[in-house]
Amino acid sequence: MHGLMMDQPLLISSILRHAELYHSDGEIVSRTVEGPIHRDTYGGLARRARQLANALTGLGVGMGDRVATIAWNGYRHLEAYYAISGIGAVCHTINPRLFPQQIAYIVNHAEDRYVLLDLTFLPLMEALADHLKGVRGFVVMADRASIPDTKLRDVIAYEDLINSHSDRLEWPEFDERTASSLCYTSGTTGNPKGVLYSHRSTVIHSLSSVQPDVMNLSARDAVLPVVPMFHVNAWGLPYSVPLVGSKLVFPGPKMDGASVYELLETEKVTFSAGVPTVWLGLLNHVASVGGRFTTLNRTVIGGSAAPPAMIDTFRDTYGVDVLHAWGMTEMSPLGTVNTLKQKHLDLPAEARNRVRLSQGRVIYGVQARITDDDNRELPRDGMAFGHLQVRGPWIASEYFKDGKTPAFGEDGWFDTGDVATLDADGFMQITDRSKDVIKSGGEWISSIDLENICMAHPAVAEAAAIGVQHPKWDERPLLVVVRKAGSTATREEILAFFEGKVAKWWMPDDVVFTDELPHTATGKLLKTKIRETYRDHRLPTA
Ligand code: AMP
Repeated sequence: MHGLMMDQPLLISSILRHAELYHSDGEIVSRTVEGPIHRDTYGGLARRARQLANALTGLGVGMGDRVATIAWNGYRHLEAYYAISGIGAVCHTINPRLFPQQIAYIVNHAEDRYVLLDLTFLPLMEALADHLKGVRGFVVMADRASIPDTKLRDVIAYEDLINSHSDRLEWPEFDERTASSLCYTSGTTGNPKGVLYSHRSTVIHSLSSVQPDVMNLSARDAVLPVVPMFHVNAWGLPYSVPLVGSKLVFPGPKMDGASVYELLETEKVTFSAGVPTVWLGLLNHVASVGGRFTTLNRTVIGGSAAPPAMIDTFRDTYGVDVLHAWGMTEMSPLGTVNTLKQKHLDLPAEARNRVRLSQGRVIYGVQARITDDDNRELPRDGMAFGHLQVRGPWIASEYFKDGKTPAFGEDGWFDTGDVATLDADGFMQITDRSKDVIKSGGEWISSIDLENICMAHPAVAEAAAIGVQHPKWDERPLLVVVRKAGSTATREEILAFFEGKVAKWWMPDDVVFTDELPHTATGKLLKTKIRETYRDHRLPTA
């Protein structure tokens, strides 16, 4: 017997409709590529999204067609999110930090019909356009006067395009399982793989992400997503923020410490989200100007392990709570967020702070387990570590046009490629990416643990721990360290800092210094490159 409740499809357009009705004057503030700060409202967003939807329909874009965006976080990009998905087309967000050949590959693989681009990416598209045969036109997200002379073919000015269309439109109704957006993961090997989200997965993920033990978003917040809209839909914030009607503040192309700090302060931002490297820049800037955060009270850090030293600095020096979170492109992305339970509240501060360091608790909607090499489930005791597997309604079932890779298990679980512990309260701690774990004498050493300890040294700006070949132990840990400007810390000082913090056999065998560490297009340490660079490094113990 079915229940007798209204059967309404969960569509992304329902978020915009609600925001327009009840948060019509809610502000959307954007730093633009052109320079000035732009101010709009949810009412304006809804009207312009309908104009763009009508314009796209006029260009022949229909259900299931892919329309790409290559753009910073800003109001026009947000309009594109809602307009494209709203008419049943698929919003394909492209990460501009990928190699140009990879961008060409994914545009062709996705069979994008149109590309919407920020002015910044005009030269990139000029260089690639000849390789993008299926693309019918390039919509530059600016007014015509701002677009310089270009040799790019079939250029359309965004403002001209939408201004020639009415803002009258009833968003169409269709099956909630319809594809809504597409994001390619920037794996370190092989071609990027497309994750195809649906309206249903997006709406359920948004409903979950605003909850108190997740991001705790409300109409009283002002939210600045530093995490780019081309990286897993900015962790869902372009949907979850309008859903609750918070003020929305976009940093545009400027993600350096000084620019982000200025926006946080002038726009009275209460909540932000980004990867650790961005916060490194922000904290350095705020320390250098002797600043403080007047309104910011919490920030989500994820994408890579948030170093404990960073979590402590935010909390102890600036009174900003860090919500350490873990997720993946394949997971829309949220999997775990670190918040306390009632039983932790009476713990001494130090013990409570220790609970806050891990990647956090599994949120409702995600099922998680850890398994051994034979796919047998391991206990949730906080000690055993194994392959972290997940399933749930906002987790990919396969890749777009690439089907199920071996990570999609026959038993319905997706292997994340991460190695983790899990405890009875649902707290999960990533010990490593399975490919990055250091294998010494048949045992595993966590590269993340070594990096976290090293990052707490006052002279260290950034650190990577990698396994280097060793004749006796198979691999031994090498630390590759970027010193803070002006620091002269030595190898011996860094190694001494590990004394008493790790088991003897976890002690790094050597330390080398470098000016810069390579990062992936999503801001993670590029371990494959670092391992390649130091492959022939001779350890003193070898
Ligand atoms: P992406 O799909 O680019 O978002 O990358 C997902 C991967 O980033 C995960 O599988 C983890 O390896 C890593 N990751 C994300 N968040 C964290 C975190 N808080 N701590 C450690 N690793 C993380």
